[in-house]
Amino acid sequence: MARRILLLGPPGAGKGTQAALIASTLHVPHISTGDMLRAAVAAGTDLGKQVESVMAAGELVSDSLVVAIVDERLSQEDARCGYLLDGFPRTVAQAEALNDSVINAISTVVLLEVDTDELVQRLLKRAEEEGRADDNRETIGRRLEVYEAETTPLVDFYEVGVLHVDGVGPVNEVFLRIMLALANS
Ligand code: ADP
Repeated sequence: MARRILLLGPPGAGKGTQAALIASTLHVPHISTGDMLRAAVAAGTDLGKQVESVMAAGELVSDSLVVAIVDERLSQEDARCGYLLDGFPRTVAQAEALNDSVINAISTVVLLEVDTDELVQRLLKRAEEEGRADDNRETIGRRLEVYEAETTPLVDFYEVGVLHVDGVGPVNEVFLRIMLALANS
Protein backbone atom coordinates (compact mmCIF):
# COMPACT_ATOMS: atom_id res chain seq x y z
CA MET A 1 0.00 0.00 0.00
CA ALA A 2 1.21 3.47 -0.85
CA ARG A 3 2.76 5.28 2.07
CA ARG A 4 3.57 8.75 0.81
CA ILE A 5 0.08 10.12 0.81
CA LEU A 6 -1.37 13.56 0.28
CA LEU A 7 -4.82 14.17 1.72
CA LEU A 8 -6.47 16.90 -0.29
CA GLY A 9 -9.79 18.61 0.31
CA PRO A 10 -11.47 21.91 1.11
CA PRO A 11 -11.50 23.51 4.57
CA GLY A 12 -13.99 21.60 6.70
CA ALA A 13 -13.76 18.37 4.70
CA GLY A 14 -12.42 16.53 7.75
CA LYS A 15 -8.81 16.19 6.62
CA GLY A 16 -7.36 16.64 10.10
CA THR A 17 -9.59 13.95 11.64
CA GLN A 18 -9.08 11.46 8.82
CA ALA A 19 -5.36 12.17 8.53
CA ALA A 20 -4.82 11.30 12.19
CA LEU A 21 -6.68 7.97 11.74
CA ILE A 22 -4.88 7.06 8.52
CA ALA A 23 -1.46 7.97 9.89
CA SER A 24 -1.86 5.90 13.04
CA THR A 25 -3.20 2.93 11.06
CA LEU A 26 -0.38 3.02 8.51
CA HIS A 27 2.28 3.99 11.08
CA VAL A 28 3.45 7.06 9.21
CA PRO A 29 3.79 10.59 10.61
CA HIS A 30 0.85 12.96 10.14
CA ILE A 31 2.34 16.18 8.81
CA SER A 32 -0.13 19.05 8.92
CA THR A 33 1.08 22.50 7.93
CA GLY A 34 -2.03 24.02 9.53
CA ASP A 35 -1.18 22.35 12.88
CA MET A 36 2.48 23.34 12.63
CA LEU A 37 1.62 26.95 11.84
CA ARG A 38 -1.01 27.13 14.61
CA ALA A 39 1.54 25.72 17.07
CA ALA A 40 3.97 28.46 16.04
CA VAL A 41 1.28 31.11 16.57
CA ALA A 42 0.36 29.66 19.98
CA ALA A 43 4.03 29.56 21.03
CA GLY A 44 4.55 33.15 19.88
CA THR A 45 7.67 32.32 17.84
CA ASP A 46 8.99 34.66 15.14
CA LEU A 47 7.36 32.42 12.55
CA GLY A 48 4.08 32.52 14.49
CA LYS A 49 4.12 36.32 14.61
CA GLN A 50 4.81 36.43 10.90
CA VAL A 51 1.86 34.22 9.91
CA GLU A 52 -0.79 35.01 12.51
CA SER A 53 -2.69 37.76 10.70
CA VAL A 54 -2.42 36.01 7.32
CA MET A 55 -3.99 32.87 8.76
CA ALA A 56 -6.71 34.75 10.62
CA ALA A 57 -7.71 36.40 7.34
CA GLY A 58 -7.98 33.04 5.57
CA GLU A 59 -5.17 33.83 3.17
CA LEU A 60 -2.27 31.53 2.36
CA VAL A 61 1.11 31.80 4.02
CA SER A 62 3.86 32.33 1.44
CA ASP A 63 4.97 29.29 -0.57
CA SER A 64 8.63 29.75 0.38
CA LEU A 65 7.81 29.72 4.07
CA VAL A 66 5.69 26.56 4.07
CA VAL A 67 8.02 24.78 1.65
CA ALA A 68 10.91 25.41 4.06
CA ILE A 69 8.87 24.12 7.02
CA VAL A 70 7.83 20.95 5.18
CA ASP A 71 11.30 20.31 3.77
CA GLU A 72 12.71 20.42 7.26
CA ARG A 73 9.97 18.13 8.61
CA LEU A 74 10.33 15.58 5.78
CA SER A 75 14.07 15.39 6.35
CA GLN A 76 13.48 13.97 9.83
CA GLU A 77 14.11 10.29 10.44
CA ASP A 78 10.47 9.27 10.98
CA ALA A 79 9.42 10.48 7.52
CA ARG A 80 11.88 8.25 5.70
CA CYS A 81 9.49 5.33 5.30
CA GLY A 82 6.46 7.38 4.43
CA TYR A 83 4.23 10.20 5.57
CA LEU A 84 0.76 11.58 5.36
CA LEU A 85 0.60 15.20 4.24
CA ASP A 86 -2.41 17.26 5.32
CA GLY A 87 -2.71 20.84 4.07
CA PHE A 88 0.42 20.78 1.93
CA PRO A 89 0.93 21.19 -0.98
CA ARG A 90 -1.85 23.69 -1.34
CA THR A 91 -0.68 25.47 -4.50
CA VAL A 92 0.86 24.21 -7.74
CA ALA A 93 4.10 26.01 -6.85
CA GLN A 94 4.28 24.08 -3.56
CA ALA A 95 3.61 20.80 -5.39
CA GLU A 96 6.40 21.56 -7.84
CA ALA A 97 8.79 22.35 -5.00
CA LEU A 98 7.92 19.02 -3.38
CA ASN A 99 8.40 17.12 -6.65
CA ASP A 100 11.89 18.56 -6.89
CA SER A 101 12.96 16.53 -3.88
CA VAL A 102 12.49 13.21 -5.69
CA ILE A 103 13.06 10.98 -2.67
CA ASN A 104 10.00 12.45 -1.07
CA ALA A 105 7.65 12.33 -4.05
CA ILE A 106 3.99 11.71 -3.23
CA SER A 107 2.72 8.31 -4.35
CA THR A 108 -1.00 8.66 -3.73
CA VAL A 109 -3.41 11.58 -3.55
CA VAL A 110 -6.73 11.23 -1.76
CA LEU A 111 -9.32 13.93 -2.43
CA LEU A 112 -11.96 14.22 0.25
CA GLU A 113 -15.12 15.60 -1.36
CA VAL A 114 -17.79 17.54 0.54
CA ASP A 115 -20.28 20.03 -0.95
CA THR A 116 -20.00 23.71 -0.07
CA ASP A 117 -23.19 24.01 2.03
CA GLU A 118 -22.08 21.15 4.24
CA LEU A 119 -18.57 22.65 4.55
CA VAL A 120 -19.93 25.99 5.73
CA GLN A 121 -22.22 24.27 8.28
CA ARG A 122 -19.34 22.21 9.65
CA LEU A 123 -16.97 25.17 9.92
CA LEU A 124 -19.57 27.33 11.69
CA LYS A 125 -20.22 24.49 14.13
CA ARG A 126 -16.48 24.10 14.74
CA ALA A 127 -16.28 27.85 15.38
CA GLU A 128 -18.60 27.40 18.38
CA GLU A 129 -16.78 24.32 19.64
CA GLU A 130 -13.12 25.17 19.11
CA GLY A 131 -12.93 28.92 18.59
CA ARG A 132 -10.32 28.80 15.80
CA ALA A 133 -9.38 32.31 14.68
CA ASP A 134 -10.24 31.55 11.04
CA ASP A 135 -13.61 29.87 11.65
CA ASN A 136 -15.93 32.83 11.23
CA ARG A 137 -18.43 33.43 8.45
CA GLU A 138 -16.36 36.00 6.58
CA THR A 139 -13.08 34.12 6.71
CA ILE A 140 -14.73 30.80 5.89
CA GLY A 141 -15.96 32.28 2.59
CA ARG A 142 -12.49 33.54 1.79
CA ARG A 143 -10.85 30.18 2.65
CA LEU A 144 -13.26 28.40 0.31
CA GLU A 145 -12.44 30.88 -2.48
CA VAL A 146 -8.71 30.44 -1.90
CA TYR A 147 -9.14 26.66 -2.00
CA GLU A 148 -11.03 26.88 -5.28
CA ALA A 149 -8.49 29.20 -6.90
CA GLU A 150 -5.21 27.86 -5.54
CA THR A 151 -5.69 24.25 -4.49
CA THR A 152 -8.20 22.65 -6.89
CA PRO A 153 -5.68 22.93 -9.78
CA LEU A 154 -3.72 20.25 -7.92
CA VAL A 155 -6.32 17.66 -8.95
CA ASP A 156 -5.17 18.11 -12.56
CA PHE A 157 -1.54 18.51 -11.52
CA TYR A 158 -1.55 14.98 -10.03
CA GLU A 159 -3.74 13.67 -12.89
CA VAL A 160 -3.93 9.89 -12.75
CA GLY A 161 -3.19 9.36 -9.10
CA VAL A 162 -6.12 11.14 -7.44
CA LEU A 163 -8.55 8.93 -5.49
CA HIS A 164 -11.90 10.66 -5.04
CA VAL A 165 -13.56 9.80 -1.74
CA ASP A 166 -16.98 10.95 -0.53
CA GLY A 167 -16.34 12.84 2.72
CA VAL A 168 -19.98 13.02 3.85
CA GLY A 169 -21.07 10.58 6.56
CA PRO A 170 -19.89 9.33 9.96
CA VAL A 171 -16.14 9.62 10.62
CA ASN A 172 -15.59 5.84 10.71
CA GLU A 173 -17.46 5.32 7.43
CA VAL A 174 -15.42 7.98 5.65
CA PHE A 175 -12.29 6.41 7.12
CA LEU A 176 -13.27 2.99 5.74
CA ARG A 177 -13.89 4.52 2.30
CA ILE A 178 -10.40 6.03 2.35
CA MET A 179 -8.73 2.79 3.46
CA LEU A 180 -10.62 0.86 0.75
CA ALA A 181 -9.58 3.37 -1.89
CA LEU A 182 -5.96 3.10 -0.75
CA ALA A 183 -6.07 -0.70 -0.69
CA ASN A 184 -7.44 -0.78 -4.23
CA SER A 185 -4.99 1.73 -5.61
P1 ADP B 1 -8.21 24.39 6.67
O1 ADP B 1 -9.06 23.91 7.80
O2 ADP B 1 -8.67 25.70 6.11
O3 ADP B 1 -7.95 23.34 5.64
P2 ADP B 1 -5.47 24.29 7.76
O4 ADP B 1 -5.59 23.95 9.20
O5 ADP B 1 -4.89 23.29 6.86
O6 ADP B 1 -6.86 24.85 7.27
O7 ADP B 1 -4.62 25.65 7.59
C1 ADP B 1 -5.01 26.85 8.25
C2 ADP B 1 -4.31 28.05 7.62
O8 ADP B 1 -2.89 27.87 7.68
C3 ADP B 1 -4.60 28.29 6.14
O9 ADP B 1 -5.80 29.01 5.92
C4 ADP B 1 -3.35 29.08 5.72
O10 ADP B 1 -3.39 30.41 6.17
C5 ADP B 1 -2.24 28.37 6.52
N1 ADP B 1 -1.65 27.26 5.74
C6 ADP B 1 -1.69 25.93 6.08
N2 ADP B 1 -1.05 25.19 5.16
C7 ADP B 1 -0.60 26.05 4.21
C8 ADP B 1 0.11 25.90 2.98
N3 ADP B 1 0.50 24.70 2.54
N4 ADP B 1 0.38 27.02 2.26
C9 ADP B 1 0.01 28.22 2.68
N5 ADP B 1 -0.67 28.44 3.81
C10 ADP B 1 -0.98 27.37 4.58
